[in-house]
Amino acid sequence: MPDPSGARDAGGPLLDAPAREWDTPMYRQAVAQLDTAARAMDLDENLWDRLRSPQRAHVVSFPFRRDDYETVETLVGYRVQHLLTMGPTKGGIRYAADVDLGDVTALSMFMSWKCSIMNLPFGGAKGGVRVDPTALSKGELQRITRRYTSEIIEVIGPDRDIPAPDLGTDEQVMAWIMDTYSQQKGFTVPGVVTGKPVELGGSAGRREATGRGVIACSLEASRHLGLALEGARFVVQGYGEVGSTAARIARSLGARVVAVSDAKGGVLDPGGLDLAKVDAWVREHRFLEGMPGVDHLSNAELLELPCEVLVPAAVQNQITEANAGRIACRLLVEGANGPTSVAADAVLAERGIFVVPDVLANAGGVTVSYFEWVQGLQHFFWSEEDVNNRLISLMQRAFQDVLGVARARGVSLRSAALIRGIDRIKEAKRRRGIFP
Ligand code: NAD
Repeated sequence: MPDPSGARDAGGPLLDAPAREWDTPMYRQAVAQLDTAARAMDLDENLWDRLRSPQRAHVVSFPFRRDDYETVETLVGYRVQHLLTMGPTKGGIRYAADVDLGDVTALSMFMSWKCSIMNLPFGGAKGGVRVDPTALSKGELQRITRRYTSEIIEVIGPDRDIPAPDLGTDEQVMAWIMDTYSQQKGFTVPGVVTGKPVELGGSAGRREATGRGVIACSLEASRHLGLALEGARFVVQGYGEVGSTAARIARSLGARVVAVSDAKGGVLDPGGLDLAKVDAWVREHRFLEGMPGVDHLSNAELLELPCEVLVPAAVQNQITEANAGRIACRLLVEGANGPTSVAADAVLAERGIFVVPDVLANAGGVTVSYFEWVQGLQHFFWSEEDVNNRLISLMQRAFQDVLGVARARGVSLRSAALIRGIDRIKEAKRRRGIFP
């Protein structure tokens, strides 16, 4: 079938010329994944082309006063809504020094597929502010959050677009967003964000949901591969909300967590790390560097450690053509969004490494965000046990669903996940038709 750009059939550039505003390497990676799935499912070329562009992309800039009062910087923020067909849009807000429109657009596309794979009534969105959160005081973080919220206030809302935490943001940031939105609307609107503190209408189990989903997928995949998780070596890149939860649950299932890392580097104990000690160190010192009684290594070295399960749970573009040949795990479960490049995917497949893709593996977060939204709308809150049980059963169902597509079509789990997600969107778009 001809493709929308004409260029892809010739193996040429992935995108139409002239380049679009959001054309960056990460956006190209998202499009390349879409293209692979679209070819495999023989997707209608009009829809294929439509799904490559976000429906709405908002870029804002605003002044930010530093604690010294004299310094005022201009910051740039984004909120991108990829797909409005399925209901309100949903996706995290990221604070990072390298955030740009292309990254946020790519991440909003991943969110569309993720929500659809999990059968949630949302389209994908993503937001971000280009700032290094580790260099901010709590007061600075709060001022940025409140001003950014004011700048995007007209495009978010409980029926419109519902942010959640992502890299560099947490439940406190969500509480400030909710408060700012509520102050400006004149009444309390808890449903404008998910991932809130429980005291403000957050869901039990939300903080751990993504890590718990990562482990639910690891269990399903290891069963499929005939690999025992008990005693298996786990390596986790990124000891944040997702990575630390995944490590703790893996440990509770009898796995050996041999190495974990953060932005500055990692720690290793071949006999298995004492995670209580790691947590205590991080609580006091913020980063793992300097921790006694363990070996230290770089993030690049950590990714190449021999292990049964590798969980990248930090940032995008970590496993590339440059290191894919040296990745030494049996199972790669993507906690982070976009950690593996398209070229690396091919190398890993050739080497028999089983990859559970981000859109499936880290969908636990948005799933419990959905539970939080539903609980908030009904003013009826579930127990943590209920939340966890429902999460695990949805993750298991989605994994088996995607595995079934992979087997039936003879494609990778990543392509199968995208095919599953796009297929539902395709039907919804067909039924709604085109306006006008
Ligand atoms: P977080 O900010 O809580 O933790 C991120 C961790 O990664 C920290 O330990 C940080 O030091 C480390 N890190 C940052 N830059 C790094 C680098 N260049 N190399 C190595 N480590 C680095 O973030 P999080 O919420 O745990 O999110 C982690 C990843 O999971 C992101 O890719 C995010 O998009 C994805 N994700 C998160 C959720 C969620 O619910 N929090 C849901 C889906 C996907």
